[in-house]
Amino acid sequence: MSLDARIGDDSIAALRATMSGEVLLPGEAGFETARRVHNGLIDRVPAVIARCQGTPDVVDALAFGRNHGLDIAVHGGGHNVAGRAVCDGGIVIDLSPMKGIWVDSKARRVRAQAGVCWGEFNRATQLHGLATTGGAVSSTGVAGLTLGGGFGYLMGKHGYTVDNVTSVELVTAEGAVLTASEDENAELFWGLRGGGGNFGIATSFEFALHPVGPTVYGGLVAFSFEDTARSLHFLRDLAKDPYDELTAVCSLTHAPDGSGQKLAAMLVSHCGAAGRAEHAIGAVRGIAEPVIDRLGPISYCDLNRLLDPGFPKLALNYWKSCFVTSLSDEVIGILTEQFACCPSPMSKLIVERPHGAALRRAATDTAFPLRSAGFSVLILAQWRDASETEQNVAWARETYDLLRPHAAPAAYSNYMGDDEMLARVKQAYGENFARLQSLKDRYDPANVFHMNQNIPPSTR
Ligand SMILES: Cc1cc2nc3c(=O)[nH]c(=O)nc-3n(C[C@H](O)[C@H](O)[C@H](O)COP(=O)(O)OP(=O)(O)OC[C@H]3O[C@@H](n4cnc5c(N)ncnc54)[C@H](O)[C@@H]3O)c2cc1C
Repeated sequence: MSLDARIGDDSIAALRATMSGEVLLPGEAGFETARRVHNGLIDRVPAVIARCQGTPDVVDALAFGRNHGLDIAVHGGGHNVAGRAVCDGGIVIDLSPMKGIWVDSKARRVRAQAGVCWGEFNRATQLHGLATTGGAVSSTGVAGLTLGGGFGYLMGKHGYTVDNVTSVELVTAEGAVLTASEDENAELFWGLRGGGGNFGIATSFEFALHPVGPTVYGGLVAFSFEDTARSLHFLRDLAKDPYDELTAVCSLTHAPDGSGQKLAAMLVSHCGAAGRAEHAIGAVRGIAEPVIDRLGPISYCDLNRLLDPGFPKLALNYWKSCFVTSLSDEVIGILTEQFACCPSPMSKLIVERPHGAALRRAATDTAFPLRSAGFSVLILAQWRDASETEQNVAWARETYDLLRPHAAPAAYSNYMGDDEMLARVKQAYGENFARLQSLKDRYDPANVFHMNQNIPPSTR
């Protein structure tokens, strides 16, 4: 065991005595596993990891960190690609042991603690034939995704994840435990729906649920790489679809058989009536001659696990993203040419289209402002061998630089990489930034919570 000079043996012993969860120090069993996040490129070593079992543990761990002048990092599901869930030399307040999920099927509500991942969430709510918009990969954390916005298969029908939050329990920088909802601390509630981890530590979330599944229609269909333009045109033309139930994502990706073959894949979910769903997935299948066809009836939980093998834990990741208002021929040309020279068979270019209910709210209704039509482009470089880091990062940056002249000022904070600065965060929040900064002044004037897509207090 090695102890940071700012922390005494006695204070660690006191924290251990008070917390229900484990307190881990470097060198102790479990520390190595607990300090790692999804992105293997992140290799930070905190001084202490407090594995919280509930809200009282969070309050005590936060007080400990503040009293010892430590940087505070908050770990939900650990999927943030910039590794904001872990810091060097500070305290990680690790919420991942907090797995409580309580479904009220009559009221169509669920309360989930902040360590729950989407796969666990869906298993619990699907027992009642209910779901809400959540992440497309089962291991992604509910907490970080929700606080930052939340794209998902159900967004056309039920809005972004933030649009389904009905209340949040939050531990503030001062250690107070608050509820934020439309009726209580309403301004804070506005900010928590998109403003990320800037205002405190969310210990649990309540969501509205909707009847979904257990069987929906969807899955994955992949075409030859030569059919990229056809696939993207299909996505573009979906704006003419009068229904909200179909969500389609285009992913330039590689064949799952490891052959390295480049493909244009469509990931599809249809949560509506069988007849309409069959018609809609028939149209997706008809884009071109499929190379892989896994479209059809599928359980909602299986749909949520379908992509998991493509995102292995500890693979090295570097992401850039932008938002384009139209899939012009120039944008399609850049995506096609850049994917053709992509150096890693694990990388992807993912084009998502927020639509339907997600766009029927005003940009100022919640802190999450992405409410106009367009396409999110995620440049997802992923590889295994550290000696290939430079070329993969360079590829992602070059692709981003080529797309930049075509991009709108908007951005999705949950996709931001480590090198995204204040200017980009300001762009991401647009007209909501000033209001978010006022909230930061009120709830976290010392910027205790700065390991995030940071909204600094106005005084700093
Ligand atoms: C494989 C993969 C798939 C993804 N799929 C989707 C998708 O389908 N849709 C989508 O919208 N996004 C998706 N994302 C992006 C995702 O929204 C972000 O990575 C998000 O940060 C993940 O949340 P987390 O709790 O897992 O992350 P963490 O890394 O634990 O946290 C992310 C940030 O939130 C803060 N935070 C976490 N929990 C709390 C809390 N309880 N209170 C206060 N602050 C907290 C952290 O400090 C950190 O700054 C995906 C990411 C990955 C890696």
